[in-house]
This record gives sequence, C-alpha cells and structure tokens, in this order.
Amino acid sequence: MKRSNTFVVRPLSNDGEQVLRDLLDASAALWNEINYQRLMRYNDEDGFEGEDVWDADTGRLEGKYKGVLGASTAQTVRRANSEAWRGFFENKKAYHDESNTSVKEHPEPPGFRGNEDDGRVLKGVVRKDAYTVKWGDRSRLEIVVGEELRDRHNSPKSRLRLEIVGDPNWPDYEDQSRLEFWYDETDCTFRASQPVTVSDETRDTPLADETAALDIGANNLVACTTTTGEQYLYEGRQLFDRFRETTREIARLQAKLPEDRDSSERIRRLYRKRTRRRDHAQEALCRDLLERLYTEGINTVYVGGLTDVLDTHWSVETNTKTHNFWAFVKFTKRLACTAEEYGISVEIRSEAWTSQECPQCGGTDRTTRHQDTLTCPCGFEGHADLTASETFLERYAEQAVRPMARPVRFEWDDHVWSESPRSHRPKEQRTDPSIVHRDGNVASGVVRKSEISVMTRISDSRTESA
Ligand SMILES: [Zn+2]
Repeated sequence: MKRSNTFVVRPLSNDGEQVLRDLLDASAALWNEINYQRLMRYNDEDGFEGEDVWDADTGRLEGKYKGVLGASTAQTVRRANSEAWRGFFENKKAYHDESNTSVKEHPEPPGFRGNEDDGRVLKGVVRKDAYTVKWGDRSRLEIVVGEELRDRHNSPKSRLRLEIVGDPNWPDYEDQSRLEFWYDETDCTFRASQPVTVSDETRDTPLADETAALDIGANNLVACTTTTGEQYLYEGRQLFDRFRETTREIARLQAKLPEDRDSSERIRRLYRKRTRRRDHAQEALCRDLLERLYTEGINTVYVGGLTDVLDTHWSVETNTKTHNFWAFVKFTKRLACTAEEYGISVEIRSEAWTSQECPQCGGTDRTTRHQDTLTCPCGFEGHADLTASETFLERYAEQAVRPMARPVRFEWDDHVWSESPRSHRPKEQRTDPSIVHRDGNVASGVVRKSEISVMTRISDSRTESA
C-alpha cells in the first residue's frame, strides 16, 4: 500500500531556516526556468517554432542549480516537471477523447511557482535517497544541500537537519519515495510529505462486525450513527462561514481587476488557501472519525447524505457554493482511502439523500425540517441530520441497533476536531452512560439554549447567501 506521512518541520536555528528558504527558493527557480523553456516550445513562441517541449535543454539548467541544490535534488526537480508535463498531455488526450469522460475541463499546462509581483512560491522536492527521517521522541529530517549553499551559510555538514513536529501516521514502512516540501503561508510553517510503502500486513482488521451510517451535509459536515449506539456530529458552521468569507473576498478582488485580466496572484492565493483549509479539515475529520469507528468495532460504513444541501430552501447559487465547499466526491474518496487503512469498507448509498423519514411513525410526507430540527405531527422532534443517519443505519445494518447514547459534537479549530462545549456529553463521561442519563435533563436544557443561537446564525447566513 502507498501511504504518506505529512508533517510540520522546524529549522533548528535562524541560519538553518535561511538554508531551507534558499533551498526551496532555488528549487522553485529551477522549476520555473525549466517550465518556461517548455512552455515557450509548447506555445510555438517566436524563436521556438517547430521545437518540441522535450527539446528544451534542461540538462544545462539542472547544472546551473546543482551547486545550490545538490545534484540529486536538481535532477529531481527536472523529473517532477517532466512528470507534470506528461500528466498534462495525458489529460489533454483524455479531454479530446469522446469515449473518455474522466477529464471534463480543458487541462492547463503546468504552472509557475509564484510570479513577478509576489515572488516565488517556496516549494521543493528531494530524491528518495537524499533524505532521511528518524522517528522517535525527537523526530528529525535530514536533507542533502548543495555545496554552494553550505559555503554561503558556513555550514560544514552536507545535510541540513530539521526537527519534525508530531507523530507519523505510518511509522513502519518498507520504502520511502520522493519527499515534497513547501512553506505553508496560511499558518507560516514548513510542511513536508513523505510518501511511503507499507506492507499490507500493517493494515488493521476490524475488531468486530458492527455497522455505521453517515449523513453528509454542510451545516453539520458529518452526522454518524453506529449499531453500537454511538452518535457523532461534526459541525461545519465555522468552516463554512470562513469559506464564504474568502469567497466574498475573491469576488470583491475580481470586481476590481482591470478589464483585460481575469485573475491575479492574490486571487489565486485565496483560492489555494480556501482549498487547503477545507482539505486539512476533511483529512482530520476522516482520521478522527475512523479512529472512533475502529475502536467501536465497525467494519462497514454506509455513506449517504447532502440532505440539507439538497434541501429546497437552499438556492441554486448556494447549492453550487456548498458543493464547492464540501467537494463531496473528493471527501468520500478520502474517507474510503482512510477507511482502507483500518480495514473498514465504505458503501455509498445515494438513494438515502431524498426523504426525511420520521423514526417514530415511519412517515415521510408530513415531517418538516427547520434548520437542524426535524418535527413530525406524531410528536417526534429531533436533530435532523442525526435522525437521518439513524434511519439510514436502520435500513442497511444487518444487526440490531443498540439504544442511543447522547450524541458527541465536534468543532474544528483549524488544527483538530475536539468536543464542542455544546456537546451533550463531556469527554470523561463517554464510557459511563449512567452519569450521562442522570445529567440528561440539565444537559439538554443547556444545549437547547445555545442551539437556538446557532440556528439563528445559520439562518442568517442562508438568507445572505441566497
Ligand atoms: Zn412521526
């Protein structure tokens, strides 16, 4: 199995940070020079007519940067650029092939790392044999740097040592591939991604054969119910608010652009920031959720959802924005991929998207949903998304669903999903349902009050974006 460890790296000194910046900057510069030569030929610009992308003298450029980057890294940058061009040509072919529907938008040739106004984007690659990672109490990464760079910073060592923050998802692996690393301007940190090959035996096997069902939405990213009687709710409000804020800022900047331009580096950076933030939250959500499901002994997860997204009072425009925000397909892929690590299988059941069934009387045509609350004339009132995931689970689970404990709510703080102060159950009480029931009335009273303010805010945001 191919997997990757993504982590934050910290230089050990100011000088170390400068070496790292210079290294990433030179990597980006080499990438840009190679890419420029190839793009000129691709576009048949003056002086390059009749030449092929692959005719560019990349060996000369590689040589020019070898002193700073080291020979292996310079070569790796060239290879990475070649791969990007090959990928582009493949996509282009698929786009023009009518029998192939995998590529729907006309692909663009590989881009540059940064631009003249904002400078280069700090991003680089290191060949698999030119770096080492040592995992432990003080994990560290060492990468090869070129002689010129060493001289410039009076560094006698051929390798730059960096501190790794946090633990790897995959500490045991058979092989590593090309390391990618970059400066993340959203939170001013250096990050690296180490692709690794892990043996299939390291894959977990489920502890039991319980089942879970997920309802996916925008207000609540994921509502989950398990046959073991657990309910989890991952709240998406803050994330969605920030997504909308950035989208507005993009629109404002676009309106100010001169007529002959349709984008700017600032706009592109905001798009990147928006995507990265969402991806980060999604990735963390998948891991947090699957870790819990694994502990519960779940072996199959049914995924349905977008109940609130497809709700009629969301305008078409809002729907588009929400789809962009949530990137449902991407999320389910990520979920399935993470689930594979735990040996849990993911089943998509799209038909569960449409109706909202009352769990008490089974009726669907008389239930009404108002924001997060589902009500039925039979007297039922409950959280709409959690109810949806519960009904969904009843439909597909082969075993009986155990009585429900109080749901656990999670909020995103830009780094981790943690239990919300509005959560029905404090963390330490999770394993002892008796305490939960004793406090039940008080807890629900508190929650209801704060929920009203949440609902009001969600309802405001809906009106604004509608
Ligand atoms: Zn009912």
